[in-house]
Order: sequence, then structure tokens, then C-alpha cells
Amino acid sequence: MWRRPGQLRLHLAAAAGAAGRGARRRNPLPPVPTVPSSSSSATTTTTRDLAAFARGSSSSSRSLSDRAGGGECWSCGASGAFLSCGSCGSVQPVDPAVDYFRIFGLEREYTIKDNNLEGKYKDWQKKLHPDLVHSKSEKERAFAAEQSALVIDAYRTLSKPLSRALYLLQLEGIPIDEEKTITDPELLMEMMEIREAVNDASDSQTLEKIQSQIKRKLETWSHSFQEAFERRDFDRAVKATQRMRYYERAVEETIKKL
Ligand SMILES: [Zn+2]
Repeated sequence: MWRRPGQLRLHLAAAAGAAGRGARRRNPLPPVPTVPSSSSSATTTTTRDLAAFARGSSSSSRSLSDRAGGGECWSCGASGAFLSCGSCGSVQPVDPAVDYFRIFGLEREYTIKDNNLEGKYKDWQKKLHPDLVHSKSEKERAFAAEQSALVIDAYRTLSKPLSRALYLLQLEGIPIDEEKTITDPELLMEMMEIREAVNDASDSQTLEKIQSQIKRKLETWSHSFQEAFERRDFDRAVKATQRMRYYERAVEETIKKL
């Protein structure tokens, strides 16, 4: 269960390169050519996030909180308070209308172009973590506990392709039977073959080879999901998630054995 987040971190670290944790220590940051920078102090979290955000989305370069909207702060009355207040820092009550994508300032779409999801997650946790607001009122501590849990859920859901796909379908009101049995004989056969190959594999090299084959299939179906979802062909999108689930489980099997 905990292997996947670990794997994800590795993956993110590799993919993010400049945007990850290491960037804070390795100063100065590598240049971000596509972002017109108004400030040279690229070391602050905010600026870095904005840079990553602007890189990831061509539609807007506004800040996370501007983009997300937000209401009036219960504590100081400032407008645009989202999760926590930009003016006084008070943690806000959970707004059920806020979806996971909004929390990270993302478009509601399958492909996440922002490779700094983990950084944004950590920034939210810095503002919301219950341990960090222990000196605040009981009311605000309760808000922080709820918001922190929400951000954890949001990060876990969006950072993995399958859960992200299922969440998008859920937001569209598409029902999904997660335990639907396989009836496609071709897929059944394939799954049996994969299982056998995993069972028979006696060394890590063979297992890694099998794993990368399954991952390629997972990617293919992930791509199918994206195409179908963009066309709003939800039947095909749901079918793609079923395939993704099988391949994801198969990958887990190889990880267990490795
Ligand atoms: Zn406030």
C-alpha cells in the first residue's frame, strides 16, 4: 500500500527535476524560459509555484488562490480566502463545492501538466497541518484537521492516473462498478498469462521486464481514457479505467515479488 506513494515520489522527483524539493537547496534555480518573471527572487515557494503553474497551464497565470476563488475569511473578513486566508492566515472551513483540481489550481482534466503537484501539496500542508496550528482556537484547529485531510485525499487521488480518472468520471456523475468482473475472453487470457509469467519469474531482471511491459499497456489505456474522456465518450472511458485497474494490479503483483 505504501509502496506506491514512494514510487510516485521517485517518479515525481525524476520528472520534476527543477521543481522538486531539491531545488530549494540548489540555488539558483534552473531557468524557466517560458515564464515572464517579474521578480528575480525565484527562491520563494510562491514564485516557484507560480512558475510551475504558468508552465503547466497556458490559459492563466493567476495565482492559486485567485484562480480558486474563495470566500470571505471568517476571522478577518478579507475576500478570496481559500482553504486558508491569504491576509491573516486563518484556516477556513471546508467548502464542499471545492473539487480536488481546484485545490491545486488545476484545470479539471486528466492530463496534469503541472509537475509540481507534490510541492503544492506540501505548501498546503504547511499552512493546514493540525500540528502547526496547535496554538489556534479549537474552531480553527478543527478546520485545519478537515482541510488537511481534504488536501491529503486530493493529492492521493490526483497523483495517480487511475484514481484521477475515476475521480473525473465521478465529477461527471458517471457510475462505476469497481468490482465488475471481466467478461472479455481476450483480456481474461492475457491476465492469466501475466499472472503465470509473474509466478514463474525467478529473478528480478525477468520481473522488471514483465513490469515494464505491463506499464506500457497501462500507459496505452491511460491514453485511451484521456481521448475518450475528452470526447465525452464515457462508455469507452469507463472501459479504459477497467483495463487500467487490471494492469495496475498486475504491476502491484510484480512489485510484491521484487
Ligand atoms: Zn483572514
